[in-house]
Amino acid sequence: MATQKRLVCRCGEFPTQLFGALRSIATHGVQECPTCSRPRVLELDFDLGLEAGRKPSRVLAAYLPSRRKKWTLKKGPNRGFRVEFFPFLVVLQAGRTSYRWLPYWHVLTKGDTRKTKYGQWAPLLRQHMFDSLLEKARADGY
Ligand SMILES: [Zn+2]
Repeated sequence: MATQKRLVCRCGEFPTQLFGALRSIATHGVQECPTCSRPRVLELDFDLGLEAGRKPSRVLAAYLPSRRKKWTLKKGPNRGFRVEFFPFLVVLQAGRTSYRWLPYWHVLTKGDTRKTKYGQWAPLLRQHMFDSLLEKARADGY
């Protein structure tokens, strides 16, 4: 859903892939540029449907569950591939508004072959909406 991604610091812009960049932030946090010592910020630009508008934003943090689901495909054209599910929680700042984004990928591996499949329907929620969902679920004991 993020239509553009840029990894930037004072030095300029660096090539990046969204999955790898988010996984790196989830694992190591936002990294410092080796040249200018400033954080290399991952900027995302969401072009939302239904007239929700554009949301240029920067990634403050990203998280992955400590344990992730893995399984092996038993049928179909990808039979024998090992699947690993990567559901992210991404903390974004757009102007003064804080957002939570829940993108996910499935990574399929078999031998030296690796396929990274992006989930297309990840919600982008204002922080208060996300908090409200968590509060309601927790209040019910989940
Ligand atoms: Zn730099």
